[in-house]
Amino acid sequence: MSQLQDNFGRRFHYLRMSVTDVCNFKCSYCLPDGYRPDGKPSFLTLSEIANLAAAFAKVGTQKIRITGGEPSLRKDFTDIIRVVADMPNINTVATTTNGYRLAQNAQEWYDAGLRRINVSVDSLDPRMFYQITGENKFDQVMRGIDAALDAGFERVKVNAVLLKHLNDKDLPRFLHWIKQYPIDLRFIELMETGLGHDYFNKHHLAGATIKAHLLENGWGLDQAAIDDGPAQNFSHDDYQGRIGLIMPYEKNFCASCNRLRVSAKGKLHLCLFTEHGVDLRDLLQSESQQAELVSRLHQQLEQKKATHFLHDGVTGVTQHLASIGG
Ligand code: SAM
Ligand code: SF4
Repeated sequence: MSQLQDNFGRRFHYLRMSVTDVCNFKCSYCLPDGYRPDGKPSFLTLSEIANLAAAFAKVGTQKIRITGGEPSLRKDFTDIIRVVADMPNINTVATTTNGYRLAQNAQEWYDAGLRRINVSVDSLDPRMFYQITGENKFDQVMRGIDAALDAGFERVKVNAVLLKHLNDKDLPRFLHWIKQYPIDLRFIELMETGLGHDYFNKHHLAGATIKAHLLENGWGLDQAAIDDGPAQNFSHDDYQGRIGLIMPYEKNFCASCNRLRVSAKGKLHLCLFTEHGVDLRDLLQSESQQAELVSRLHQQLEQKKATHFLHDGVTGVTQHLASIGG
């Protein structure tokens, strides 16, 4: 069966699949008032997830990241990992988590087939971590990262959103940390969502500042591998860890887009921003619907736009990233 490809020649072998909108943290840039249920939540069931993953695997998806909300709040999270990991052609199962359950479950998730893990740690100062996330869980999350390394994960990725007036003094601490630990640190530029201009204007910090600092201090920009996606990666001989910069406002950011998203309620999103999702759920009810599902995926890819319109302040329908799986 032919691979998913859009009209700009981009191929999509990476799916970000949200399995819940629910989150127990209150990150100030995402869910500042905490998760508010919107009616009775009905997130994709395990069998719908299996049908979804099978269809994507048929059209060239090799990597699936399970995200949310906080994916590990799903009681069947380990089963979800196992179902996706057992799918033919899916060779990498990843997740993005706030790390709340990591210390307890890292080994179980690894044994179920999870191979890549991104943990969000916006500050290495416990008080600042609390201020940004609304949860006093810094030590617990750091224990989780140790547990992941012990469980067999080769490397752990740590996501930190760059926030002016909040964590902008944290770079030296982060650098000190990754000197000794094999952590792939990813600094993510704040993206404007439906939360409003005020937060964005106050806290947005361009990744270019960090890039300049790294290049002045002996870090080298790595050659991008085909499946790297839009991150720019840096390494340094004296450091065990590496640094990635995700700068969605940079020119050409979208040119290397290799990912599609499905929300926790089964909507396909061709981009984090700019358009309404397309419902797939009616075709996730039985294996016999696979051919129809695959043909809907191909049809939709024809609609994918060349770029987002974030520069023009167009944030699409995305109220916050928890609703679509960041
Ligand atoms: N709850 C999990 C977590 O925080 O890792 C997974 C979902 S969260 C939406 C995924 C990633 O999106 C996190 O690393 C988070 O920091 C990032 N994120 C959320 N809102 C963002 C925004 N407005 N701009 C940039 N990154 C954002
Ligand atoms: Fe929750 Fe992740 Fe959003 Fe923070 S970024 S509120 S942990 S979904």
